[in-house]
Amino acid sequence: MKIVVPKEISEGESRVGLTPDSIPSLKKLGFDVFVETNAGLASSFTDFDYKKSGAKISTKVADLYKNAHIVVKIQRPQKTKKINEFKFLKNCNILSLFYQQKFKNEFNDLKKLKVNAFALEKMPRISRAQSMDVLSSQSNLTGYKAVIDAASMFNKAFPLMMTSAGTVAPAKVLVIGAGVAGLQAIATAKRLGSVVSAFDVRSATKEQVESLGAKFVSVGAEESGETSGGYAKEMSKAYKKKQAKLLEETLKKIDIVITTALIPGKKAPLLITKKMVENMKVGSIIMDLASEFGGNCQLTKHNEVVNHKSVRIVGPLNIAASISQDSSRLYSKNVLNFLMNSCESGKFTRFNFDDELVKETCIINNIK
Ligand code: NAD
Repeated sequence: MKIVVPKEISEGESRVGLTPDSIPSLKKLGFDVFVETNAGLASSFTDFDYKKSGAKISTKVADLYKNAHIVVKIQRPQKTKKINEFKFLKNCNILSLFYQQKFKNEFNDLKKLKVNAFALEKMPRISRAQSMDVLSSQSNLTGYKAVIDAASMFNKAFPLMMTSAGTVAPAKVLVIGAGVAGLQAIATAKRLGSVVSAFDVRSATKEQVESLGAKFVSVGAEESGETSGGYAKEMSKAYKKKQAKLLEETLKKIDIVITTALIPGKKAPLLITKKMVENMKVGSIIMDLASEFGGNCQLTKHNEVVNHKSVRIVGPLNIAASISQDSSRLYSKNVLNFLMNSCESGKFTRFNFDDELVKETCIINNIK
């Protein structure tokens, strides 16, 4: 069984699909691991680290892919001016993030090939699959790094400081959406000494927010924002009106906003209007982690920093890639656990299509 790890070709993608620490376990499962030369360098994993862990290094891309059973990637296969990944994909299983709704053309091209594709972002959010959940592993680090990035942009300190030259007031941080990224953002902002408040439509998050030492901002409406599956749903017009009023008042006092609100399968809810931004303090920062899905702020532009009347609104492209050593390691562990899930007597021979995790993630099944 040959498992291969190409170097990512997407612009700004510095993560790598497998990291050296997973390789001894993959070998025990029966895999020969081949890594493209310098595939891990942007995540600080050298060819030497991979070789020491038992992988082989391929200097030619065509050699890497030859007879591969499994290809592990972060970003979906693509064609660029330099390389066309599609031409190497034959008779193999591809494990990657695909977001097929968003990248329809590439998905349609891939469907024509004799491959199986497993979209890891579709991993069911059930307890058994937690160790394979790439959305959680990457969101957690994204929440952390968003606060660090905001702190480094901000021209004030985060913690309260009492000095002989005077007192520095703590920064006020608001986190909107207390899911995986939001909860880690709250914890990080607290660790940095700021005063944190948070808000979510799911009432279950109140206790989680408070257990991290943050204040839960309540809309005070009866409506539940939760589906039976525990996810957020789109709220009624009346709720949105009440929420907007509350946000407008709250934002006037806030220095940093980390906004993460998403509704599965839908455009991100628009929560912060231009008028609200104009009422914020000069120098405030909005980190819009929902920017890829349309943004929670009306002024957000994906992959840009918009300066509107001295409030900066950041629409980050790929925060997880900016912390690539850890995000790659966790992604790699998620992949390893997913492969282990199909093993029999400690060996991998095939994906177990009777298992719901395999069935749910498999978006192309052209190899029977
Ligand atoms: P997400 O990224 O889909 O959304 C982020 C947050 O935004 C959610 O908490 C959501 O409630 C909130 N939100 C949506 N609309 C909002 C609005 N209008 N205003 C304010 N907040 C709004 O969420 P996620 O981090 O992927 O997690 C979603 C759920 O999945 C949670 O219940 C989480 O506990 C659960 N989960 C389960 C597992 C597992 O069991 N394997 C793993 C991870 C997450």
